[in-house]
Amino acid sequence: MENFLSDIEIAQRAKMKPIKEIAEEIGILDEELELYGNYKAKVSLEILKRLHDRKDGKLILVTAINPTPAGEGKSTVTVGLGQAFNRIGKKAIIALREPSLGPSMGIKGGAAGGGYSQVVPMEDINLHFTGDIHAITTAHNALSAIIDNHIHQGNQLNIDPRRIIWKRVVDLNDRALRKIVVGLGGPIQGVPREDGFDITVASEVMAILCLSNGLQDLKERLSRIVVAYTYDRKPVTVADLNAQGAMALLLKDAIKPNLVQTLENTPALIHGGPFANIAHGTNSILATKIALKLADYTVTEAGFGADLGAEKFFHIASRYGEYKPNAVVIVATVRALKMHGGVAKDDLMEENIDALRKGFVNLQKHMDTIREFNLPFVIAINRFHTDTENELQELKQLIEAEGVPVAISEVWAKGGEGGIELAEKLITTIEENEKEHSELYSLDDSIEAKIEKIAKSVYGADGVEFTSSAKKQIAQFSKRGWDKLPICMAKTQYSLSDDPKLLGRPKGFKITIRELRPSIGAGFIVALTGDVMTMPGLPKKPAALNMDIDENGVIKGLF
Ligand code: ADP
Repeated sequence: MENFLSDIEIAQRAKMKPIKEIAEEIGILDEELELYGNYKAKVSLEILKRLHDRKDGKLILVTAINPTPAGEGKSTVTVGLGQAFNRIGKKAIIALREPSLGPSMGIKGGAAGGGYSQVVPMEDINLHFTGDIHAITTAHNALSAIIDNHIHQGNQLNIDPRRIIWKRVVDLNDRALRKIVVGLGGPIQGVPREDGFDITVASEVMAILCLSNGLQDLKERLSRIVVAYTYDRKPVTVADLNAQGAMALLLKDAIKPNLVQTLENTPALIHGGPFANIAHGTNSILATKIALKLADYTVTEAGFGADLGAEKFFHIASRYGEYKPNAVVIVATVRALKMHGGVAKDDLMEENIDALRKGFVNLQKHMDTIREFNLPFVIAINRFHTDTENELQELKQLIEAEGVPVAISEVWAKGGEGGIELAEKLITTIEENEKEHSELYSLDDSIEAKIEKIAKSVYGADGVEFTSSAKKQIAQFSKRGWDKLPICMAKTQYSLSDDPKLLGRPKGFKITIRELRPSIGAGFIVALTGDVMTMPGLPKKPAALNMDIDENGVIKGLF
């Protein structure tokens, strides 16, 4: 068995350049940079005014097959691809999400790429970074305090305390806070009511920050958030409470994208981190827009597989950001496809060509989906050292037989050097296919029709069933004029269907919509196919228990 350095050990050996140098090289002016120490900086939104007339560079979306516990390495490929572009002399910027402390302290450990394709300073990015997530927590909870105070002070808006849908948030996995009672202790302490906590990245404020085109747009979106219903069931918004000003003020720095670098000094904008189920799962529009103005190639990533992340990227993020993706990378691994072909996690070390062939159908479905969106794509096989040469060649041939360009990515083991073939194939693919992506539904379609189009085209479902309560909600939402918004599907990431156990490419299934939730501020309707966990719990052995810092400040266990 070879010995590999852990992600954090590699990151700690990085030779970072002062962030001022990275900024200068990519064309950010001194006065547009707000330094947070030597290696992190915020980029002023003024830059978008200065570069308004400059033509956008190319936009590449990295997505993947349905995730399995075997790991796909989307972030790793995203970072490695950016580094590879730089190596072949192209100006590239990586745009990624900010990691949440909940999963970092829980099971994940960290989320800044892996191996020799990481963003640094890795510890900071995985911990408090530049404080954006804390600012979002505070803006969110300020609204909670304003709601409870409004009720305490006489409840002029007639808010029904049993119908407040705005919970509190904290950026930790803390199951004990899922359901709580607030306002206990008598009349001076407020009005008692049931409440609960979500994790901050599930907050609508996070989704709003990521979908805003600037401070004014941010404020307008905040003002449209529906927080509660009155006793006569009318929606109550942030604008009714006049809280949008304070909330926007609390977000004045958080709205500015963060500039860092990769292990190979490629610039990376890391900004915003919305959930990929009840939200859209991509970094901020502002970060992507700035990257597009500065770089020849912007490489960005969307959460989970193409059935969730890519679909939402095209229907939600690209719509609000008004950007035009040029090409897609679908990341697949031999290991994950073998799991889709029926192999158990413990048996993945053994070569199994049959299972690989069987599981290939999952990748095929995602290729079909990207074709539906009319975009060119390249498949990146993220190579693990346990993959056999036979397996890699077999997968390559299966992909080539579809007439699709494919590259084996070795960015985890080799950094940018291991992604040059992928970068070159992307350049050719983009040059040969100047296409504009299409959308699968129009905003004028009914809520049912939009969901049906996604389910049939993207999941391969036969149809959609709506529970009677979902039907009632659709009628109410349509009456309120909320039916013209895009849909944000909340579905298991593990399967194309709504049953996490159905791997591969399930056929002959329907999906069931149980509930709809209005995220009117963010600008979408969430359609839930089952229970979605908005406050995860910690596992039996939380990653946090392996973390440590010694007296010299050296960190351990953040992966
Ligand atoms: P995703 O974005 O799909 O969640 P990441 O890129 O964050 O995945 O990778 C998840 C983990 O898998 C990281 O710890 C990373 O170091 C590891 N990983 C990714 N690619 C490889 C690879 N080719 N070989 C070994 N480990 C890898």
